[in-house]
Amino acid sequence: MTQMMKAAVLHALKTPLSIEQVPIPEPGHGDILIKVTACGVCHSDLHAVEGDWTPPPVIPLIPGHEVAGKVAKIGPGVTGFKLGDEVGVPWMYSSCGQCEFCLAGMETICKQGEATGYTKPGGYAEYMVAPAAFVGRLPAGTDPYAMAPILCAGVTTYRGLKRTGARPGQWVVILGIGGLGHIAVQYAKAMGLRVAAVDVSPEKLELAKSLGAEVTVNGAEGDAVAAIQEKIGGAHAAVVTAVASKAFEQAILMLRPAGTVAYIGLPGGKSDEIRTSISAITNWELTIRGSNVGTRLDLNEAVAFAANGVVKAKIRTAALEDINGIFDDMRKGKIVGRVVLKFS
Ligand SMILES: [Zn+2]
Ligand SMILES: [Zn+2]
Repeated sequence: MTQMMKAAVLHALKTPLSIEQVPIPEPGHGDILIKVTACGVCHSDLHAVEGDWTPPPVIPLIPGHEVAGKVAKIGPGVTGFKLGDEVGVPWMYSSCGQCEFCLAGMETICKQGEATGYTKPGGYAEYMVAPAAFVGRLPAGTDPYAMAPILCAGVTTYRGLKRTGARPGQWVVILGIGGLGHIAVQYAKAMGLRVAAVDVSPEKLELAKSLGAEVTVNGAEGDAVAAIQEKIGGAHAAVVTAVASKAFEQAILMLRPAGTVAYIGLPGGKSDEIRTSISAITNWELTIRGSNVGTRLDLNEAVAFAANGVVKAKIRTAALEDINGIFDDMRKGKIVGRVVLKFS
């Protein structure tokens, strides 16, 4: 008899997820089956449900790409794992391993890449399958609920900060202090950077301050670009986690000469365009870099920061059945920190 599990399934874009019983997947060659303990709810999951991106997700879809769990079954050909090992599954489900980008250690931009909870079933379920070669190893005994957001929000902000090239002692401005941004502040501090935080929510700015941001700017109260230029003389680096395209425009103008901004947020839909000043970029030699989640190496490094306690996601746990309400709160920008689904 087929063994069943509980999962949240998307059957059509822009509709609520349905909580249902589906068969537990079988690990194929090179795969492991993971018993999910925790799965963070990322804004990208909402983008998937809404069909904001091109191409759209593969439907029916089980979303979720901030998965912490334990190895429950090992597929043929897998070595180096044993039952019960603590593992994490990030957005990058797999890459081809052979293209010029994979060979260069830039596997996150592999054109044959698969995405967890988007093109492959993710962690809004009691079990999921993932390729062993791309699964992150979590130190034994780590808190899986606190660790889950590190699998996406953590690795993504960490790589974004790395890609700005900012050095200890320099200023970085973090735009958007949501699920990603509040973790970005902590990685920046841990990397020796000075942090300015920009958001439109006083509560989120308070959180940023409590996590070590020296300067906070409320973008809803006047000109945020002028405020950053005035308070810190412009930032050496900026990381944009926001979902409003205006923040992506502002970030460029918040830089000081020779500054670099890393874009890690994805507004999607109609907001996928910006207007900017060509002369500002040319004259001041500014750099705009994309940063797409993180490689396996980035993941290992990001997990190490969290395991050492210098980065900690602010979370609240919820049941899988709560997912549609969580998405509603997310649409309204009401979530402070991260919601993590808890499985028994
Ligand atoms: Zn994510
Ligand atoms: Zn590749």
